[in-house]
Amino acid sequence: MGRVTVFTLGGTISARGGDAARLTGAEVLAGLGAVGTEAELRDFRRLPSSSLSVEDVAALADEVRATVAAGSGVVVVQGTDTLEETAFLLDLLCPTTEPVVVTGAMRRPDLPGADGPANLAAAVAVATDPACRDLGVLVVLADEIHAARHVRKTHTTSVATFASPGAGPIGSVVEGEARILLRPATPSTVCSLRLDPRIRVALLTLSLGDRGELLDAVDSRYDGLVVAAFGAGHVPTWLVEPLEELARRIPVVLASRTGAGTTLSHTYRGPGSEHDVLHRGLIPAGPLDPVKARLLLHTLLSSGAAGEAGYDRPRITAAFTHLTGTGLA
Ligand code: ASP
Repeated sequence: MGRVTVFTLGGTISARGGDAARLTGAEVLAGLGAVGTEAELRDFRRLPSSSLSVEDVAALADEVRATVAAGSGVVVVQGTDTLEETAFLLDLLCPTTEPVVVTGAMRRPDLPGADGPANLAAAVAVATDPACRDLGVLVVLADEIHAARHVRKTHTTSVATFASPGAGPIGSVVEGEARILLRPATPSTVCSLRLDPRIRVALLTLSLGDRGELLDAVDSRYDGLVVAAFGAGHVPTWLVEPLEELARRIPVVLASRTGAGTTLSHTYRGPGSEHDVLHRGLIPAGPLDPVKARLLLHTLLSSGAAGEAGYDRPRITAAFTHLTGTGLA
């Protein structure tokens, strides 16, 4: 069994009743019994995950990078609300051979059927298993192992809330041991990425009859935009020109608001179709959901894809294509 370092950030797994008070990292780990005593603990934050900031995750990524470089596997324990975002950012920012696993819990420690101890034990089993190296950052809950780039929270209360629509889990934990069934086709780290908290990327979810007022607000305030568009990447005809105009100045990524599947590139060709807006300068998110597309764009803009002269569209497009295996036809 390999070494493991556990970073605790807060969340339901460490909640004490329904208020904001939190168990310490040591108290969370105590639920693990003997295994917990062998883990190195970093009591990193004690926050509901909705209050974690980009700065928090950037600082976490620095510590995780140093920890894996020293040969230790990592478990990050946090609230489930933004767990998929932390996992994906770590996946982008921490090229690692050692397993890095993110976990949490849906039921507080004081409730019947609390899932924290089982999730933590499964996460430690994965993080210390050499067979789980070189898989990128993983999310482990309810005995399922998910790749960070695919996983999403899909239910407000179910303990089986984490799923990877369109991909499925890459393995499971059985009798306390990791069983890997599939490996991600490409690593998530596209180049040397960092996270600049000053970069602002907006996420705009379109809805029926959207007249584009929020789009106007994006223009002067943001460095990039992700549009969570209808279906496979469709926008109202009257937003095509404003989006084209915006994409001349800042990167505009086209994602889908549906929750699963990939944006298309050339199935629909009329005004407002995916073919239309991609040829007017929008960048396809492919199968990346809007929240993850926003984080990828944020890291790319933090890492030199933006400058005085505008933004590096080919580089941003290449990064999305590399990660998602999709391109503009
Ligand atoms: N609201 C909690 C959080 O994300 C939910 C959880 O941990 O499951 O911090």
